[in-house]
Amino acid sequence: MAKHIFVTGGVVSSIGKGLTSASIGMLLEARGLKVRMQKLDPYINVDPGTMSPYQHGEVYVLDDGSETDLDLGHYERFTNAQLTRDSNYTTGQIYLSVIEKERRGQFLGKTVQVIPHITDEIQDVISKVAEGDVDVVLTEIGGTVGDIESLPFLEAIRQFPMRVGKENCLFIHLTLVPYLKAAGELKTKPTQHSVGILRQIGIQPDVLICRCEQPISRDEREKISLFCNVPVQAVIEERDKDFSVYEVPLSLVDNGLDEFIVRRFGLHTHAANLAPLHEILRRQREPKQEISIAVVGKYAEHKDAYKSIYEALEHAGIHHQIQVRIGRIQSSDIEREAPERLLSGYDGILVPGGFGERGIEGKVQSIRYAREKKIPFFGICLGMQCAAIEFGRNVVGLPGAHSTEFDKDSPHPVICLLDEQREITRLGGTMRLGSQPAKLADGSLAARAYGTLSIAERHRHRYEFNNIYKQQFERHGMKFAGTSPDGGLVEIIELAEHPWFLAVQFHPEFRSKPTAAHPLFAGFIDAASQRRSRRKSMRTFENPSDTAVMPMLD
Ligand code: GLN
Repeated sequence: MAKHIFVTGGVVSSIGKGLTSASIGMLLEARGLKVRMQKLDPYINVDPGTMSPYQHGEVYVLDDGSETDLDLGHYERFTNAQLTRDSNYTTGQIYLSVIEKERRGQFLGKTVQVIPHITDEIQDVISKVAEGDVDVVLTEIGGTVGDIESLPFLEAIRQFPMRVGKENCLFIHLTLVPYLKAAGELKTKPTQHSVGILRQIGIQPDVLICRCEQPISRDEREKISLFCNVPVQAVIEERDKDFSVYEVPLSLVDNGLDEFIVRRFGLHTHAANLAPLHEILRRQREPKQEISIAVVGKYAEHKDAYKSIYEALEHAGIHHQIQVRIGRIQSSDIEREAPERLLSGYDGILVPGGFGERGIEGKVQSIRYAREKKIPFFGICLGMQCAAIEFGRNVVGLPGAHSTEFDKDSPHPVICLLDEQREITRLGGTMRLGSQPAKLADGSLAARAYGTLSIAERHRHRYEFNNIYKQQFERHGMKFAGTSPDGGLVEIIELAEHPWFLAVQFHPEFRSKPTAAHPLFAGFIDAASQRRSRRKSMRTFENPSDTAVMPMLD
């Protein structure tokens, strides 16, 4: 029988439930347990695929093609849990399923209600993840306790111990203990209120994880323990970490969380093996070099819009023991200012995926700059499509070359829809999604980086390279380094006359981990590092005004 941990959040949103849940999963795995992770989101959208990155950050894609909340990225980066469609449910999906059952007459004319029908459906999706060979299931409830829309989820997890036994369930509540400068003290009242709301619903948390900026004294922990009815050793301090997110799991161990969980469940495990975590932090603390990468995107100001890309760059930095500084560049700014003004100080340029026309010309100009100045370039999805547009226009000599996503009447549609997709106009469910195999050309940069000729990577796009232009592009020095196994779809392009210019139609960032950097990101960072070393040795001969405006990622 699997054990269940439910993670709720209180006081404020963005309190870090995703990262904390992922850290708990990581620690349980480090004790040798088999873990599964799940996120239940209270919003009504049926899937996060069509939601704006402004509100929700990136859409995270799984192997099976499901488009999910970005917290699932934390889960995959921190744990080895296999995530599937069942790992993320929204209120919209739960209601849709219940309504479909009602339409099919499955409720035999009964009144269909939030309790028990919606709450049963929620419990069913939790039970589904607990099937088979698994020790602990972690289910994170999105939103903040007290939100109207979270109520059915909270009611469902309140009932869940009746399904599987109280001894098999543990409720963890993540809360904020703010420091009031004027009073010079930590305040526990918001936590008391938040736990009060949970208890009104009928949930008594077993563990409180207290986010704080200042250490929580024994006295304050005792006070929280007394008011919230939680044993003092289960009042866990989680202080803000400015250096690295990988300090979070270690601080949870220091505060005894993993030990408390296994004891409470009566699980017999060895102590957590923390060696990989310590090694990550050691590499981060002692970088051999510092380099800077420009990420030129449409949502540069939003630090979650390209979350997995920023993480994958960091992982590659950990791999090479290099500190990677990331400059988030708004592609529309490139259109207003010359690319050299914004990009000349960087050791590498990355153009990420995206949708919509805004900023496209800025991306194309950035790629031209990277190509001509021989700066390592990495294009991802839309980034690859823009690289094809740039090459078509400026090297092959195809004026007006474009993607039909942005110019339906382009004289040279180098990127277009596959024939069978032309008829589809409905949003949602119309993309090439999930893990797909590809074959690589022997001797290519990609083949060298991967160390194999057959790969599988996750996709999320509608448009493709137009094969009509393939030979012309090849004649001008573009290499088609990766294609679908039948050769029909272009997956990777490279340039012969360039130190490192590689662009992919898929999303390698979704398969990168701190302990296993993605080979293409590792290759890109290596090329950028070599360029930095070369430039350093040439610095005395170079123009010292090599200082671009660099808005850095915090
Ligand atoms: N908008 C492009 C397409 O649909 C690229 C998508 C992406 O970058 N994820 O093909």
